[in-house]
Amino acid sequence: MDGSDSVSSRIERLQQTFEQLKIDAFLVSSEANLHYLTGMADMAGDGYLLVLADDAYLITDARYQTAFAGQYDTEHLVITRDYLGAVCTLIAQTHTGVMGFEDDLPYAAYSYLDENLVSDLVALPAVVDTLRVTKDASEIAKLRASARLADAGFEYVTSIVRPGMREIDVSNLLDAFMRSHGASNASFTTIVVGGARAALPHGTASTALLEAGQMVTLDFGYFLDEYTSDMTRNFALGEPDAKLKTAYAAVKTAQDMVVAQVRPGANSAELDAVGRDFLTQAGYGEAFNHGMGHGIGLAIHEDPLISKNTNNQLVANSVVTVEPGVYFPGLGGMRIEDDVLVTPTGHERLTKATRELLIL
Ligand code: ZN
Ligand code: ZN
Repeated sequence: MDGSDSVSSRIERLQQTFEQLKIDAFLVSSEANLHYLTGMADMAGDGYLLVLADDAYLITDARYQTAFAGQYDTEHLVITRDYLGAVCTLIAQTHTGVMGFEDDLPYAAYSYLDENLVSDLVALPAVVDTLRVTKDASEIAKLRASARLADAGFEYVTSIVRPGMREIDVSNLLDAFMRSHGASNASFTTIVVGGARAALPHGTASTALLEAGQMVTLDFGYFLDEYTSDMTRNFALGEPDAKLKTAYAAVKTAQDMVVAQVRPGANSAELDAVGRDFLTQAGYGEAFNHGMGHGIGLAIHEDPLISKNTNNQLVANSVVTVEPGVYFPGLGGMRIEDDVLVTPTGHERLTKATRELLIL
């Protein structure tokens, strides 16, 4: 859990957005945003944080009472099973005019509020999510440590993997390694795909056997001290198909070209274009069928997105992935993904495992 100092300064940053958003209160419901503003993970569905212009109430039930007792006084820690009823009561008591809420609030909750709340309701996208883009020093330290552990995880996999293992065996061994080195859990289902299955950008580890001559894609992320990594590497179990080897060199060049452009003010669509145009000119345009990257932090997919359809300017002290890939149905595929810190003057790769194609 983060210290209550950082949590209260985050709530203040949220309150500073109210005037521009024309709201008098904001209701926080999503898992990562509750985590960010309360310090408590996995609270989604177990309560709400109601932030007023100069006050904040955590509405949750008795299971959380002891954990939050030091952080909230009895007035501001509302213990109830009727979370939304308490929200309505607080809004009425404080004569609040307009309450913003997160636009992914479940419909049943929205419907209840629409029926029972005396204030106006307005759905707002990405309010807390935008605050989360800029990381403080302790968050950057945690992301750095998480990336370092991912590097160790990849090195471990390359030391144990061999033809005849199943994809799921590799995933399970990596999971044990990461957990025994301090990770709490994977931030998504680990991708271990060999041979033709590597043409599936989101194929997860199956019972398929890894075979000699296959290229294998490994994409994984684990939470360490609440913050996740997200890294993709590829390796070959013996000499791979020549077409895949050539494509790998192009993906590696494209990834280097994009990372080189990461700095504050860089435009997300232009970053995407730097790598996509290179791959298109090399003949792989059709084979690169997903976005270039995304933010990471308390969640595996955060703002900003980096793709041809986005229009964000990168900001200092954010962490983004850069992950071009090419996929040939029936043959195989590859992707290289690093976690990159946007520094005040440029960038720093947080994941540092070799990007050379390892032939094991
Ligand atoms: Zn990934
Ligand atoms: Zn990713």
